[in-house]
Amino acid sequence: MNTATATPPKAPAKAPRRAIECGVPDNQQYLHPLLKKNYGDWRYHDRPRPGVLHHVAHSGDEVWSVRAGTQRQMDVGTVRKLCDIADQYAEGHVRFTIRSNIEFMVSAADKVAPLIQKLEAEGFPVVGTGNSVSMISHTQGWLHCDIPGTDASGVVKALMDELITEFKQEEMPNRVHLSTSCCEINCGGQADIAIIVQHTKPPKINHDLVANVCERPSVVARCPVAAIRPALVNGKPSLEVDEAKCICCGACYPPCPPMQINDPEHSKLAIWVGGKNSNARGKPTFMKMVVSGLPNNPPRWPEVSEVVRKILYTYKEDARSWERMADWIERIGWPRFFEKTGLTFTKYLIDDWRGARVNLNASTHIRF
Ligand code: SF4
Ligand code: SF4
Repeated sequence: MNTATATPPKAPAKAPRRAIECGVPDNQQYLHPLLKKNYGDWRYHDRPRPGVLHHVAHSGDEVWSVRAGTQRQMDVGTVRKLCDIADQYAEGHVRFTIRSNIEFMVSAADKVAPLIQKLEAEGFPVVGTGNSVSMISHTQGWLHCDIPGTDASGVVKALMDELITEFKQEEMPNRVHLSTSCCEINCGGQADIAIIVQHTKPPKINHDLVANVCERPSVVARCPVAAIRPALVNGKPSLEVDEAKCICCGACYPPCPPMQINDPEHSKLAIWVGGKNSNARGKPTFMKMVVSGLPNNPPRWPEVSEVVRKILYTYKEDARSWERMADWIERIGWPRFFEKTGLTFTKYLIDDWRGARVNLNASTHIRF
């Protein structure tokens, strides 16, 4: 047999490569072409007016980024409107900042003014690049989460209606990041002033539902202070809470909705101050609670708004240029902070959980 002319056997067909569906997509594919070309090679940037950043690359390319405030939770109509503006007045590319402002990039100075005019005409204020109150970030709340104790986006709407001037004016000593969180355990981040839900009573258990709805071992494992035990109630398998141990964190409610912790009277709001994520000019800092037990009072949350304004305007008057909220408090000290803001230091601001000795010793309030 002449093997030299025989057809080689076919290699088995390769299985098609499966899409990788986890992780963040590569951002390079979405960048404005000039940002991609000059990535990491910028010579300097300046700020020709509030809301506009001008970047100059070593190659000589220039890019103007125009920043506008949005309502954060956007309907499809608003998203389409912003995309149309990007196509008609910018160069088809946008990006979002960590505080949900939108930025449009253009490569010529003469495109900036018409873009600003259009954005302002459509109700998107062009600001937010200087020392102002940021757009307030909020957690997802009733929109698409299963455990919120308040409508965090509603608190944002009420506050931004009152603080829109401070968003536009850029007259703060430094950036002021505000945030709201609709439960006290999950996705709220650090902020200069944060509004956070605070449960003040242990969950109430509907024993008729627990056996049908909850996977009891998961719920028991979920409690950070081991306050939940399996129990037999009225002949049905259920759970019980050692209320002396419970720290009212709300972690048992997500896996077991019959352990209801939200309560119109006992679910409150607390204000925390002095958090910072960035490394700019100083280390990141953790927030500390300065007001507890404010009523969860929709639709305008006036009690929350009053405290936020008090803290904000005292900071504005008293802080030195470029001091963030945490720097200001660090300089004047906590007793002076309470004195100047007119807030009252109460026992509810002290972390009195028995495992909290380590936290207490790290606190500015008190030391053992
Ligand atoms: S803060 Fe809590 S309740 Fe609000 S969206 Fe995040 S996990 Fe859900
Ligand atoms: S609220 Fe928190 S501390 Fe209390 S029982 Fe539930 S998980 Fe445990």
